[in-house]
This record gives sequence, structure tokens and C-alpha cells, in this order.
Amino acid sequence: MTEKTIEEAEKPVSKDCNYEGIDLDLISYFGGKFIPLREANVNIMTHAFQYGTGVFEGIRGYYNAEEKQMYIFRMKEHYERLHNSCKLIRLELDKTVDELCKITVELMKRNKPECDMYIRPNVYKAGIVVGPSLINKNGGNPTGLSICTMPMGDYVDISKGLHVCVSSWFRVEDNALPARGKIQGSYVNAALSKTDALLTGFDDSIVLSGDGHVSEGSAMNLFIVRDGKLITSGVASNILEGITRATIIELAKNEFGIETMERQIDRTELYVADEAFFCGTGAQVSPITKIDNREVGTGKPGAISKKLQDLYFDVVKGKKAKYKNWCEPVF
Ligand code: PMP
Repeated sequence: MTEKTIEEAEKPVSKDCNYEGIDLDLISYFGGKFIPLREANVNIMTHAFQYGTGVFEGIRGYYNAEEKQMYIFRMKEHYERLHNSCKLIRLELDKTVDELCKITVELMKRNKPECDMYIRPNVYKAGIVVGPSLINKNGGNPTGLSICTMPMGDYVDISKGLHVCVSSWFRVEDNALPARGKIQGSYVNAALSKTDALLTGFDDSIVLSGDGHVSEGSAMNLFIVRDGKLITSGVASNILEGITRATIIELAKNEFGIETMERQIDRTELYVADEAFFCGTGAQVSPITKIDNREVGTGKPGAISKKLQDLYFDVVKGKKAKYKNWCEPVF
């Protein structure tokens, strides 16, 4: 493995995935209004800025050029999870899932995108207060809501197969910082494992729980294939209960008759698996071809991973009538 310089490690994986070049004129939703991103700023004393006390979502909108339509994928499920994340850290969000969906569709309409987009809602402790308590002392620590959106291509390379490592960083534990919630502060854990993997020359990382079992990827869920069956870590393995994970389980069963076992995965099962892939809103379906310098299966993206990837892209672009109810049209 060749170590990478910081410049090499920071190179975006696709040209539309330019983390530094976000257009500040894009419209965002902040303080109950639709305003340009450049005006959507928080005070440096904001509780969430000091303590990471916010929760968020990552949602994708796929642009279907033939239909000139933007489809937001499983938006309702993302906002249901956002509500659950709020519960975990006592955020009182005064918007229903339906209201959040409506705001998001309006936001997309105002930006008139003609490419694939990423949507990032945040709900956070917006008080200008010192002290980590989550109690909203007489309204002194109110809840903030922001939603912004930006063009996004591939977050990891989805075509050639990823070369990943098992991270030396463990996944955050449910009793310490629940991974079930998409909590801002816990992404320092993802940042540590991803950064060290990139700087070592890997594309990404797999994190283990403290007990040594496989949890998930740095910011994505993980599937392996053994003897034609899918296996993924169960919800008690410190994973984020991924919406793409649920999508894959359902598609694999309905369309290919492939069952998924949700159970603990040993580290060494990774080395003997026939196939492996990451999945997530950002990661989409990304075949893994090497883990810790060992080839996965043949060392090429596996057949099951490939067919799930192809189907996934048809589904998210609204090309499969059966699953069109997962795709919310914007226009
Ligand atoms: N795990 C983590 C830690 C994540 O950040 C993500 C991305 N949201 C996922 C898994 C995948 O979840 P989803 O498919 O809902 O995007």
C-alpha cells in the first residue's frame, strides 16, 4: 500500500463531487425562509457548533434527463429517521415528516437543478449557551432547522471496485454515542476512520465494534455474499439503520429471490467472502474488490453486487414502475 499525500487523498472521486466548490448562491432553507446559502450562517456560540448536538440526513435527488424530472429517493423514510434521531438527543422538531417533505420539494423547485443532487437537512440545538445539557431551559436552547442542497456525483468510485481496510478505529457504541441516530458529533468517528484509510492509500474503511465484530463502513452499510446469500450486520451492531440497506434487502428478495441474513459478521468472514459491497445514499452500491490487501472473490466486482447496483440505479431514477412510490417527483 502506497501512502498518499494529503493532496492526493483529497482529490474528489468524481468531477461533480467538489467538496470545496459549493455554490453559495444555491437556495437553502434556514430560519423558516428560503435564502441563499451564503446568508445561512450560525453564531459561533451555537450549542451544536460547540458540542455536536445536532442530527442530520443525507438524501439524494436523481435527475431523469429523459423525463426532465427530479426524483427524491425515499424522502419520507429519511425524515422519519430524522425524527428518530431527534428523539435520541431531545430535539423538539415542530415539523411533521409531511411538512419536511413539502419544504424539501419547494427548495428543489426553487433551485431548478438539472443534475443529481444531494440534500442535507440539519436539526440542531440552536441556543447561544454554555454547557452540554440537552434540556431546553425555558426556551434558552431552541431547535434550529436548516436544509441545503448541492449537486453531487459519486461519493466513492462505484465502477472499478474499492480497495478498503479494516480500520484501527472502532465504531461508536450504542451506550456511548448511538450510531442508530445520525448525530453530528458522531461523525468525528467516521472522519477518523475514513481519513486514515485515505492517507494510507485505501479508498475507504470498514469499522468494527469494540467486541471485534464488523459494524459497517465509515459512512455506509456493508454487505457480503457467501454461497449466494447476502449477509449484513444486524441493527444491534452499532450501525446506522440505512435506508439503502433496507432497499437492497427488499430488492434482492423481490427481484432476484436472494435472502439476506442479518447477523454478526466476523472480521475474517470479510477475507473469505465471495463478494462485498458498500451501500448508502452517498455510496449508492459500491462493489469492494480488496479488503486488507486480500482479494474479495475473484478480485473483480461480483455478479450479485453488479446486478443489485444496476437495478438500484434504475429504481432511484424512477425507471421501475413497481418502485416508483419511493421516488418523489419535484416538478
Ligand atoms: N452508515 C452511516 C454511518 C452513514 O453515515 C450512512 C449514510 N447515511 C449509512 C450507513 C447509509 O445510510 P443510508 O442508506 O440511509 O444513507
